[in-house]
Amino acid sequence: MKDNQKKFNRIQLTSKEKSELLIEGIVTIILLILLNLVIYMLLVQIFQSSLSIDKILNSFIPSIYDTFYDPNYFVWKKPIFFMLGLIDIGVLYWRLIRRYKQMQQRHIISELHYISNGHYDHRIPFDLNGDLGKLIRSINALVDSTVEAIEEERRIEQSKDELITNVSHDIRTPLTSIIGYLGLIEERKFSSEEDLLKYTHTAYMKSRQMKVLVDDLFEYTKVRQSNTPLSLVTFDMQQLIAQIVVDFELEASKKGITVDFIGNPSSLMMEGDTEKLVRVFDNLLSNALKYGVGGKSIIIHSERIGSESVITVKNDGQEIPKESLDLLFDRFYRVEESRSQQTGGTGLGLAIAQSIVTLHNGYIYANSENGWTSFVIHLPLKSI
Ligand code: ATP
Ligand code: MG
Repeated sequence: MKDNQKKFNRIQLTSKEKSELLIEGIVTIILLILLNLVIYMLLVQIFQSSLSIDKILNSFIPSIYDTFYDPNYFVWKKPIFFMLGLIDIGVLYWRLIRRYKQMQQRHIISELHYISNGHYDHRIPFDLNGDLGKLIRSINALVDSTVEAIEEERRIEQSKDELITNVSHDIRTPLTSIIGYLGLIEERKFSSEEDLLKYTHTAYMKSRQMKVLVDDLFEYTKVRQSNTPLSLVTFDMQQLIAQIVVDFELEASKKGITVDFIGNPSSLMMEGDTEKLVRVFDNLLSNALKYGVGGKSIIIHSERIGSESVITVKNDGQEIPKESLDLLFDRFYRVEESRSQQTGGTGLGLAIAQSIVTLHNGYIYANSENGWTSFVIHLPLKSI
């Protein structure tokens, strides 16, 4: 079990502390007994010898005087002892509690030292009432948020490293081919003009592949920044989708796939950067075309739900395995490397799409079941 999942408990005093507390108690009791004796003797002196005090007491507060004073010195002793006893108990309690609190503080300080020595998994495991309890809870919360910030920093660092590794890998592969084919040409290792054209064509195609990757990467890093400027315009989402569908139909029909758009009965007015949103739908539609193996239909559906427009892009065909669904939006993630390699994607499309949707205060997720794969986008509508 991790330290910070430990059950919270009361502070356990060490035997040294217990004896300290005991000695403190005994010393206090002895001091109080001595003090009581002094007070008692003083009172006896006063009541025995001072007539003036008798008179003063008698004249101002006769009833109290009557109760406290008796010529035989018995009646006044009882309440005096009772009061002294109460005060003694109060003083003893106060001294012991004060000392106990000091000990609690010592325990908290040593726990803090332990954490600050690098044991960031540890939390102060005491459950106290009052201000000390509040202090412990605040310290634990502070450690939690500090650890979270450190981990976040580490994740960002790690993800940057991964990005560099992925990019270098994805650039190196086509670059190796380009150098290979250009090397053949350079060394005149081709037998015919046809060969030469084949080599240059391959080198050209690979260069284009690299350009797509670099462009995507540039776009990705741009939209990842939360302060990316958006060119906001007010537009009707229905019209935008209808336009994209028209542009897309020809490409789809070449592959024998139908594209249908089922729109909301009324317009869906939004505020957004249309150029960036078009990129989102372009990627979703080209994905549906590329990866919907065996599919015959792509359906785009838009509707108003509350204050949101919900747009679904779905295609039939081969489903995406459940375990891949959450990873789709990770950059460079491709379901089944080989299949996607063949289709030539960079694996950045959905990561870019997600960042663009987030920049518009929306969210996107994927579903894949019953022979259909759908990508659902929620975007806020313009408030009128
Ligand atoms: P890019 O879009 O950058 O050119 P890509 O299409 O490979 O490359 P994404 O758009 O991010 O990258 O998609 C990630 C992966 O998700 C794809 O490689 C594919 O395996 C899977 N995928 C995406 N859409 C679908 C879909 N409609 N049906 C099945 N698989 C899909
Ligand atoms: Mg894609």
